Parts: sequence; C-alpha cells; structure tokens
Amino acid sequence: MSNIELLKELQETERNIQKIKQLYTDLQSSKELADKKDGLNRSKVFIEKKEEEIVTEKKKLRRMELKNETIDEELNEINSSLYGGEVSNTKELLQMEKKIKVLSGEKESLEELILSQMEKIEEHEKELEKEKLKEKEQKADLEKLVARIREESKKLKSDYDNLKEEAEKLKSQIPLEQLERYKRLKKSLGFNVVADVNNGICLGCQVSLSSSLVGRLYTPDIELNCENCGRILLLSKTGKKV
Ligand SMILES: [Zn+2]
Repeated sequence: MSNIELLKELQETERNIQKIKQLYTDLQSSKELADKKDGLNRSKVFIEKKEEEIVTEKKKLRRMELKNETIDEELNEINSSLYGGEVSNTKELLQMEKKIKVLSGEKESLEELILSQMEKIEEHEKELEKEKLKEKEQKADLEKLVARIREESKKLKSDYDNLKEEAEKLKSQIPLEQLERYKRLKKSLGFNVVADVNNGICLGCQVSLSSSLVGRLYTPDIELNCENCGRILLLSKTGKKV
C-alpha cells in the first residue's frame, strides 16, 4: 500500500470513528428513553396523587360514618325514653316525635351520601389499580430499553476501540511529516482530505485537473495536491484509465 493509500485508509477509519462517536451520543440522548422515563414519572405522580385523594376521601367517609353513629345514638336515646314510658307530658312527646322525624331525615340523606362516597372511593381505587398496572408495564419496558442501550453502547465501545487501534497502526506506517500535513488539512477539510481522481477529475471538488498534474500522479508515492481545492490526490484503481 502506498503512503497516500494509507492516508486514505486512515481517513476512512477516522470517519468511521466519528460516526461511532455520533451513534454513541445519539444512543445516550435517546428520545425513546426520555419519553419512556417521562411516561413512568407521569404514572408515579398520578399514583401518588390518587393515593392522597383516597386518604382524603376515606377521612371524609369516616366523618360521615361517625356522624351517622351519633344520630343513631341520639335516636336510640329518644326512642327508649319515648317507649320506656318515662315521658307523659304531651307537649314533650310531640317534641320528641318531631325530633325523631328530623333525625331520621338527616340519617336518610347521610346514608345516601355515605353510599356515594363509598362509590367514589371505589372508583378512585379502580383508577389507582389501573395506573399501577400501567406503571409496572412501563417499568419493565424501560428496563428492557436500558438493557438494550447498554448492550449497544458496549458494542459501539468495542468497535471504537478496534478502529482506534487500527488508526494508530496506520499512523505508525505513515511518515510523520506527511501525517502532519494531513492533520493540518483536516482542520479545514474535515474527513475529506484525500480525494480520489477519476477520469482526470478531483472527486473532492469535481474540478478537472491539468494534464501535467494527472501525468505526475503516476509517479509512485508522490504526494500531489489538487490545484483547486488543495486535497491530497489519490489515483483510484478505477481511475487508471485516465
Ligand atoms: Zn479538488
């Protein structure tokens, strides 16, 4: 392999290293991962809120039940005085009957409220159960994705290491001065320093080269630059039919 060919090989290797770096970055900032994390967080917040709501609603229910018990006690008390024959005063009897009516009415509407409160809590609990199932699925999904990303990262890292090693090997075969020139050109041209020549055209800039330059390209291992773009020229294998 000529030095220019080695440079071209180095350029390809460095380009692949760059690609892998990009893939690695993309993988780490995966949108899919961010979305899944967001989804899971939303579920967690929902569950927390729902659990708080259930606690509050149960407290309300408890207060209603206590009130109901108080009414029951009051009713029992009135009833036992009423039927125990302790009261003989007609006015007092009438007042007691009136009180029973009022309390019974209160009890009736309170029991309705208790019933609908229980239904409300049941509804909340159903929603909570559903969200917990969803959270579980999301967690499993996220874990799978994280494992996949970890696996892919590992593979990229190993590819990266191999390419780095290959690049170092190539560099060691290229004369230092030539390597320095390549590095300088890379600053402005990126990973497109060595350009193939095909049919007398520099494939780096698509401009026709002078015939004298093309002629000199046949001298083995001579470094020539495109008169237009300055790229290092490599007579490609197919380009030999200039
Ligand atoms: Zn050119």
